[in-house]
Amino acid sequence: MTTEITTRTVLVTGGNRGIGRSIASEFVAAGHRVAVTARSAEGPEGTLTVRADVTDTASVDAAFTEIEEKLGPVEVVVANAGITRDTLLMRMSDEDFSDVVDTNLTGAFRVVKRANKGMLRAKYGRIVLISSVVGQIGGAGQVNYAASKAGLVGMARSITRELGARGITANVVAPGFIETDMTAELPEETQKQYKSQIPAARFASPEEVARVVRWVASDEAAYISGAVIPVDGGLGMGH
Ligand code: NDP
Repeated sequence: MTTEITTRTVLVTGGNRGIGRSIASEFVAAGHRVAVTARSAEGPEGTLTVRADVTDTASVDAAFTEIEEKLGPVEVVVANAGITRDTLLMRMSDEDFSDVVDTNLTGAFRVVKRANKGMLRAKYGRIVLISSVVGQIGGAGQVNYAASKAGLVGMARSITRELGARGITANVVAPGFIETDMTAELPEETQKQYKSQIPAARFASPEEVARVVRWVASDEAAYISGAVIPVDGGLGMGH
């Protein structure tokens, strides 16, 4: 039996490049109304691009208002925008730590808090937080990033407890190493070393993450909430 697909209004933060761009394209291909936030550039074909910086509550609010006017209330939100400021603990400045947390964790909070208004009214919502395998297994030089990504798990599970009875799910998708600008920055030797530790022995394409996000945000996944779904070729097994 196949489930009939209802067209939803979807928002993907950081949808102008990398994993976010792929996620946005995946939702467009599935027939949904899709908006992306971007600080610069544009989202993929078929999307509405709105300017927003997730470190700024007013800008997140303005982006939602624009989407609501043009596409209707946001029913599916994918908190994808993220940054790294990798360095060893002894060299990590307060700013290195707080900038990463402000974008990756507090940024997700700002977005889901704003989305929550419309979802409560609709008694329907899909919240997907893009974490990382590193949030579970840690990463040398990534104290800030791993802490921010682990925080998303507590966030999704708390939202699940608060809103689970209102038709709203909140899940975490935890990618491993994906071919984007973020991983292209890694030195070749480091990339080789990482690949040797991944059971699948390769990095993934952004599309492999996008398909999982689309599914967990679908009506078919209505009974999945508070889950951490790895897309990591077996790197993080155990979470
Ligand atoms: P990219 O660096 O390619 O893209 C990051 C996106 O986030 C860009 O669209 C960027 O916008 C946006 N962004 C960053 N800061 C802000 C901000 N303050 N406000 C709004 N948008 C912002 O990253 P990836 O595609 O590789 O990563 C996407 C997500 O997936 C991140 O959360 C990342 O942590 C996570 N992830 C990535 C992995 C990988 O291997 N690549 C592995 C595991 C998780 P702009 O273009 O304006 O800078």
